[in-house]
Amino acid sequence: MGTTRGRPLARRITAVATAVTLVVLIGLALVSSRAIGSLLVGSADEELTPALGAAVAAVAAGDPVASPSPNTQVRVLDTSGTPVDAGPAPLLSPADVRVLKAGQPVLRTQDAPPARWLGTVATAPDGAQRLVVVGTGLAGYASAQEVALRWLVVAALVAAAAVALATWAAVRSALRPVAKLRAAVSRLGTGQRLPLPEPRELRTLAGAMNDLLDRRDEAADRLRRFTGDAAHELRNPVASIRVQAEVAVAHPDPDLAQEVLAEVAQESQRLSALVDGLLTLARSDAGELPAATAVDLSVAAADAATRCQVPDGPAIVVHHPPAACWVYAAPSEIDLVLDNLLRNAVRYARAQVTLTVLAVGRTARVVVDDDGHGIAEQHRGKVFDRFYRVEDDRARSSGGTGLGLALVAEVVRRRGGAVRVGESPEGGARFQVTWRVASV
Ligand code: ADP
Repeated sequence: MGTTRGRPLARRITAVATAVTLVVLIGLALVSSRAIGSLLVGSADEELTPALGAAVAAVAAGDPVASPSPNTQVRVLDTSGTPVDAGPAPLLSPADVRVLKAGQPVLRTQDAPPARWLGTVATAPDGAQRLVVVGTGLAGYASAQEVALRWLVVAALVAAAAVALATWAAVRSALRPVAKLRAAVSRLGTGQRLPLPEPRELRTLAGAMNDLLDRRDEAADRLRRFTGDAAHELRNPVASIRVQAEVAVAHPDPDLAQEVLAEVAQESQRLSALVDGLLTLARSDAGELPAATAVDLSVAAADAATRCQVPDGPAIVVHHPPAACWVYAAPSEIDLVLDNLLRNAVRYARAQVTLTVLAVGRTARVVVDDDGHGIAEQHRGKVFDRFYRVEDDRARSSGGTGLGLALVAEVVRRRGGAVRVGESPEGGARFQVTWRVASV
């Protein structure tokens, strides 16, 4: 199973922590062992510096040089490194002699024991240039470094092992609630929620997952309701068409044929309006957005009024500003909004419908007023829901699909606009739609 692949977190964190500890401690061991060497050399220099000073003073005064301690050699050489004090040749290479002549110290680690030399050039009373050198053996220099390094490396290994154990145990215990959470997730039944674990990070994760489950359940509920409603709405016209057709086939009656066909045509129209509405909503739910362009609301309003005017129906009066009023949307969306609002208003109005287009600041507004019975306060929040009807008029005497206002709300909101319902000054319903003004 793909989810079980990958290295366990505890092992990965332990490996990283151990490797880092090991690298740092071994680095420290190396630095420390070098520091021990420098300390030994430093203490040798502290002894050699005054001895060199005394020897230089003795050579300058023409006195014999004396060694301050049995470990310290004090030698007088000529400038090429040959002894002039009758002693044996000191263990110094020509390169060491050059370095000492330049006043620099020499550390001879190749000797046993390693030796430290300081030197400088002095002038004898006869004017001869002499190289005065003082040296001492660094007994224990190499072994001190070696022993220190060995023990420090052992200490580093022990510390790394302790860090590995502690990290492993800490990570395992920190991950225990994660394992519990995972087990709770896999056992979770419908409608159940995760228990909130103690650690804050996991508590917020479990909370976020519960919120996600809430949202998923709500969406599933909405979808279930919508599918049920859609099936119900589709069933009525289909059943009606079927019954009419079956009756016409069983009892052919030329006198009734025209009437039956007219009713079948009407139901088919409703069916096709329903299917169109459902398709538009499904496309919108899937995130499909038709290409938008600048649309002049004033022109669209006048056209919609002409389209929706029914013979002997209420008059549609249009008010719009003298200048164009541009909004950014697909022309079909604007037509859908205006047609749905106007058709509803015409359906419910007694005598008059007023369609007003306004530009208010940076928004363009369409207001549709009618003088019908209006929409009671308690229904206003729900009329934009899919398939909601105020009188729950399933017999559909109004001929509507129950999707008109849901479509209006959908196409307006996805362009950043808003739609509201209230009461018109004539006592009927007032629908207001606002969009942001498009700059053309
Ligand atoms: P329908 O296609 O059934 O008209 P809508 O979504 O367009 O569906 O409208 C939902 C409900 O809102 C309608 O069934 C009706 O009860 C109510 N309604 C819409 N417009 C008006 C209006 N102008 N006056 C009174 N009621 C309205």
